Amino acid sequence: MTLSRRTVVGAALGLYPALRSGALWAADEVADVIIVGAGFAGLNAAMILAGEGAKVTVLEANSRVGGRAYTGDHIYGTPELGASQIGPYYARIRNVCTQLNVELTLGSNINAPFVFSVGGELIAAKDWESHPRNDTVGWERPLLPQTLLGAYLGKFSPFTELDDWLQPEAEQYDVPLGDWLRGHGASPGALRLMNEGLVPFDLNGVSVLTLLQESTRGRLLSGADDESGKDRFERAALTSAHVKGGTSRLPEAMAAHLGDAVRLNSQVAYISSHDTGVTVQCLDGRRHSADFCISAVPFGSLRRVTIDRPLTGYQAEAVNRMPNANNSQVHLRIKGTPFWEQDGLDASTWTDGIINMIRQPIGYDGSRDRLAAVITGQKGDRIDQLAPKERGEFIMREIERIRPSTKGKLEVTGVHSWSEYPYVHGCRHSYRPGQARRFIHDMIKPHDRLHFAGEQTRRLEIGMESAMESGERAAIEVLGRLG
Ligand SMILES: Cc1cc2nc3c(=O)[nH]c(=O)nc-3n(C[C@H](O)[C@H](O)[C@H](O)COP(=O)(O)OP(=O)(O)OC[C@H]3O[C@@H](n4cnc5c(N)ncnc54)[C@H](O)[C@@H]3O)c2cc1C
Repeated sequence: MTLSRRTVVGAALGLYPALRSGALWAADEVADVIIVGAGFAGLNAAMILAGEGAKVTVLEANSRVGGRAYTGDHIYGTPELGASQIGPYYARIRNVCTQLNVELTLGSNINAPFVFSVGGELIAAKDWESHPRNDTVGWERPLLPQTLLGAYLGKFSPFTELDDWLQPEAEQYDVPLGDWLRGHGASPGALRLMNEGLVPFDLNGVSVLTLLQESTRGRLLSGADDESGKDRFERAALTSAHVKGGTSRLPEAMAAHLGDAVRLNSQVAYISSHDTGVTVQCLDGRRHSADFCISAVPFGSLRRVTIDRPLTGYQAEAVNRMPNANNSQVHLRIKGTPFWEQDGLDASTWTDGIINMIRQPIGYDGSRDRLAAVITGQKGDRIDQLAPKERGEFIMREIERIRPSTKGKLEVTGVHSWSEYPYVHGCRHSYRPGQARRFIHDMIKPHDRLHFAGEQTRRLEIGMESAMESGERAAIEVLGRLG
């Protein structure tokens, strides 16, 4: 493929059509395609386009690449603050690892087994089914609290194919999760436990459609999300792989492959997309022009960027309104005698309180000297009102309250909140009831010469693989137009 290379001089002389058609700037730099955001979506789009001979510039606001793939190299034990599990079906991620010689090792995010803190009482997994605090009914009773939602999604999902959720008939499932669960007979006890779990918002604030999409992906591969009562995270941990040395090493390798096409500390503030070209301005004042632009940032970030010829209709509503739920974390080191040997219970704790889970990650070397408290959704937003130092202290005291055997044995090593994290503004997209059917088709349509990628524009995949999928789709769209 032959691609034209426009020059700064040409732009300045008015030979560059984008500048003639509206933007009055002469660009500092000119490329064929500008990609905004160096997460997996942006980096994959850039690698595909560069591989086809296009001159790409990747503008990344942060001082590091990877976005929500973030290995906490600065925290004791280097916990993964974002993505870690690479599913067996992650073809794009696995291909790029092979291409760039990034090593994968089986097993990811493996935690010690869980004990359950419900109504202030610690309950061993083996006692859960018959425990008086278990007020679920019938087939729900043997299911551990964190497996209930997956079991309902697996048992009652109407979907058998990956793209079922995109079909017109699927619109009937763009309803509150709580209503759908009640319609399938979920007991009040089960609803309460599911509400305390890892859903992005309360059960009535989230559409079941997107959760069914995710559940279908897992089920088609491994029968996950069934009603066997096994912990699906535990199963995923054993069948998934992780990047040796930390997930961040993969986007770093992708960026290294792209060389000086990737510009760090380049926060895009303004995108002007016209019939004939695109101009982009960063907060540092640098200006870039290109034939096309791909936005590969979460919508929570894109809504902070001014788009000239503003978006309209459902696309504008999606960018401005689609929620991005929180995931707030406190990392701790365990000192002294193992607290789980002292109280004789499993080392990880699921709670129905302010903390969703207190995981004990088992290090790849077998070490068991860390805890990670995870606080999601609205609970995460509440906890984030505390300053990081106080937040860490508060969570440590809360763990000591729930598990008295941890008293005096914990030390906070790091605090991380995805809602507070600059440029990402949340852990994962979600849909409010009624949003999915309005947004999923319109929001990915090109807007003049601006195309859209990012995990929130996924079609068939989930997680990192969905970000790669979205970058690939946007790159193919642009390649078709570059000619
Ligand atoms: C806690 C957590 C656990 C997860 N666990 C897993 C897992 O185990 N397995 C899995 O597959 N997935 C997991 N995920 C999901 C996975 O991390 C994401 O789906 C994926 O990384 C998203 O990639 P992305 O490229 O779409 O977006 P991001 O990774 O969010 O990348 C967007 C990039 O755009 C940049 N940016 C934003 N605004 C601007 C701007 N104005 N100008 C320039 N740059 C900008 C950001 O700095 C960022 O680098 C997890 C996510 C989280 C948060």
